[in-house]
Amino acid sequence: MIKIPIDLAACIYLSVSIIILILWIFFEKKREVKNIYEDNLWQCPICFFEYIDSKNKEISRCPRCKTLHKKNEKC
Ligand SMILES: [Zn+2]
Repeated sequence: MIKIPIDLAACIYLSVSIIILILWIFFEKKREVKNIYEDNLWQCPICFFEYIDSKNKEISRCPRCKTLHKKNEKC
């Protein structure tokens, strides 16, 4: 078995723990941002224009052709 000092072992253990924690927080934030983006992404079924509308949840007006449509409505 490899002999290493106890303080070095503790240092490596803590470093690995902190790295895993940072990576976890980083990926969690990234996923959250992606979810917010996808929740507010609308695609118009008439002109297929994609846009962000964070104010409306059910019905939105397309900024290009000005038609009202529901979320994920298929033409
Ligand atoms: Zn449109």
